[in-house]
Amino acid sequence: MTRQLEKSAKTKLKRIPERGSYDRALAYAILDEGLICHAGFAIDKDVYVIPMAYARMHDTLLLHGSVASRLAKSLSTGINLSVCVTHLDGLVLARSVFEHSMNYRSVVAFGNAHAITDESDKNEALKVLTEHLIPGRWDDARQPNRKELATTTVLSMPLQEASIKTRCGPPKDLEKDLDYPTWAGVIPLTTQVGKAEPDAIVPENMDVPDYVRRYTRA
Ligand SMILES: Cc1cc2nc3c(=O)[nH]c(=O)nc-3n(C[C@H](O)[C@H](O)[C@H](O)COP(=O)(O)OP(=O)(O)OC[C@H]3O[C@@H](n4cnc5c(N)ncnc54)[C@H](O)[C@@H]3O)c2cc1C
Repeated sequence: MTRQLEKSAKTKLKRIPERGSYDRALAYAILDEGLICHAGFAIDKDVYVIPMAYARMHDTLLLHGSVASRLAKSLSTGINLSVCVTHLDGLVLARSVFEHSMNYRSVVAFGNAHAITDESDKNEALKVLTEHLIPGRWDDARQPNRKELATTTVLSMPLQEASIKTRCGPPKDLEKDLDYPTWAGVIPLTTQVGKAEPDAIVPENMDVPDYVRRYTRA
């Protein structure tokens, strides 16, 4: 795999291209930090954008869903797919309404997904998906049985034709607005992890697993 992602007619950034990048390592860092993506695909004249869990496995993006879902049924036939992952890092309040913005890191990737059919490859991909969401969980939970595997579609899309865009830092007001008498700056935004909540049948004396403690810092 090349270190750079593919700058194609589709992935060429038009507006404020200096915020863009095609650096594969940076794209992977952004993808590895996220938990959900939005997958977009067209069927006939309708366009669907669906939020989903995902994980990166080497140079591919993994998605999964019920074999009965429209997404799984359509995507496993190899139709065009676009996937976007975004981290919202802050609201940027400028002195003028026009210059308000957001700080973010986002990746947009295009490709054709194929369904992983080999049972052990599928199991491995589900392990990667699970471990991406909560490292340590796979070995601690019951493994998928053959029926569960058969009712799950796991899709793999190569990470090649993709772009990155990021914005960071303070607002960029026009010179003529700098003395406008209003507050300006950044409101940082992060995703917070809450305290773990055991369900009703977890025995009182059962320890919270280390990997849950690490996740929640509880
Ligand atoms: C959280 C967030 C909020 C945003 N809010 C707005 C908004 O309200 N209005 C607005 O106009 N823009 C917004 N943007 C920017 C928006 O994503 C586009 O970058 C912008 O619309 C300009 O697109 P374009 O015309 O350059 O390219 P387009 O023709 O739209 O896209 C060309 C190609 O550039 C790449 N690309 C474009 N944007 C991104 C991106 N963000 N990340 C990775 N690759 C990208 C893709 O490969 C895409 O196929 C927001 C971005 C983020 C992450």
